[in-house]
Amino acid sequence: EFRRAARALISVSDKTGLVDFARGLAALDIELISTGGTHKALVEAGLEVLDVADVTGFPELMDGRVKTLHPKVHGGLLAIRENPEHEAAMLAHGISPIDLLVVNLYPFQATIDAGADFDQCIENIDIGGPAMIRAASKNFNDVAVIVSVEDYAPLLAELRANGGATTLALRQKLAQKAFARTATYDAAISNWLAEQIGEDAPAFRAFGGKLAQTLRYGENPHQKAAFYVTPERRYGVATARQLQGKQLSYNNIGDTDAAFELVAEFDPERTAAVAIIKHSNPCGVAEAASIEAAYALALRCDPVSAFGGIVALNRRLDARAAAEIVQVFTEVIIAPEADEEAIAIVGAKKNLRLLLTGGMPDPRASGLTLRPVAGGLLVQGRDNAVVDDMELRVVTKRAPTEAEWRDLTFAFRIAKHVKSNAIVYAKDGATVGIGAGQMSRVDSTRIAAMKAADAAKAAGLPRSLAVGSVVASDAFFPFPDGVLTAIEAGATALIQPGGSVRDAEVIAAADAVGVAMAFTGFRHFRH
Ligand code: 5GP
Repeated sequence: EFRRAARALISVSDKTGLVDFARGLAALDIELISTGGTHKALVEAGLEVLDVADVTGFPELMDGRVKTLHPKVHGGLLAIRENPEHEAAMLAHGISPIDLLVVNLYPFQATIDAGADFDQCIENIDIGGPAMIRAASKNFNDVAVIVSVEDYAPLLAELRANGGATTLALRQKLAQKAFARTATYDAAISNWLAEQIGEDAPAFRAFGGKLAQTLRYGENPHQKAAFYVTPERRYGVATARQLQGKQLSYNNIGDTDAAFELVAEFDPERTAAVAIIKHSNPCGVAEAASIEAAYALALRCDPVSAFGGIVALNRRLDARAAAEIVQVFTEVIIAPEADEEAIAIVGAKKNLRLLLTGGMPDPRASGLTLRPVAGGLLVQGRDNAVVDDMELRVVTKRAPTEAEWRDLTFAFRIAKHVKSNAIVYAKDGATVGIGAGQMSRVDSTRIAAMKAADAAKAAGLPRSLAVGSVVASDAFFPFPDGVLTAIEAGATALIQPGGSVRDAEVIAAADAVGVAMAFTGFRHFRH
């Protein structure tokens, strides 16, 4: 399983560390072959190197498009050393084995990142490099392949330790790494080309993400997990700066994202908004004149569930709000910015993570959401519909009052971020009861009403917070029962997409008791 490296082919675009590395190889009595630019650099450094053109008997052709694409190169990389037929073919055609391949590819990604023109990008698609890498990788039994500068030193160390030989284990590992390199290289080309022809390559783009961190585990301790970052969204959990606290877990990242995307629905110029999230659903959301006031109202909605929650703000965290938030056991705070004093207050709670994003993301931005299914991947555009852009239609005899309108749009904005079936009761810019993730809409309506009653009890108030509230539903009410439940709990107005075959019955139920209802024409399923 040891293979002595007698001949190496070096062809690199990035010439970092090249000369020292090649000197190290030469000192181990390894014969060097290289391509034009690499050859020049090595000769200038005083090394003895064979030009690949002298091996193939062909000069570099067509501006370097054809340099190493030749049987003398590929035969030398692919021949199985202990196979008599392969040996005979080498002998018959004057092919010498190549035992070590060192290639780094034309910088395609860097070229597109630099905004180069179309032809330049095309010329930066490496052909011979990946072909050699794949040949050497396939033949890892005999050949070692290096595709990145960072592997120069470890390889030299191994060669020195083994008298110029490599182990099978190392060659196999290097081959695996090399195939990963050619895969991402081709994915980058495909993505770029898709963009050029105005086509989306969602799956490629989704997996073109960069590994940001390996997580301790996934949703449960027996599941492995990692966090990949894609460049699509500018401000959010993926790019936030963590000021303190231990590493975020898989569930923390998901919940923090849900929390921040929710508060991003509120324009910070217009209002201060706070969301408290548990298991990806909000247990309280409010808007007010200050973050401190919004937090108090959000907390009132469901103080029991808020324990161990994640708090997101759409404005700078100030000292007064920080002092309130640290009173409740909280896992994460995420905000665009924070005052020094607020940072110091949070600092007293060592385990509480504070994340600062530097800004708010655009709720109307396009993007993709992915969901794996057995044997496949569902891809869709993100739900970027915003209630302010919808044509709201009053369908009942009574139109909502101005105050009801404010709460209706507020509640529908929240319903978008609640798992279906989603029902949100709201009053005076705050949620008062949220029903999430139920298999029946009427159950969600009941649960939300129960929460509103509990919240009143916890706050020492005589009547359920649902009294005088409005209700939003993420999808249409299929029957009047949900509407009747909401009205019974004390709701005076409702907002929903509409579109059920029983809309007339549902509207009649509201009209019978003078309740107002508006249709949005947009559904916010979130499964
Ligand atoms: P050099 O600077 O030595 O002239 O070129 C090094 C680069 O050429 C490397 O990035 C290598 O992957 C690439 N390369 C090697 N052989 C070929 C080939 O036959 N065709 C193309 N297009 N690129 C090659």
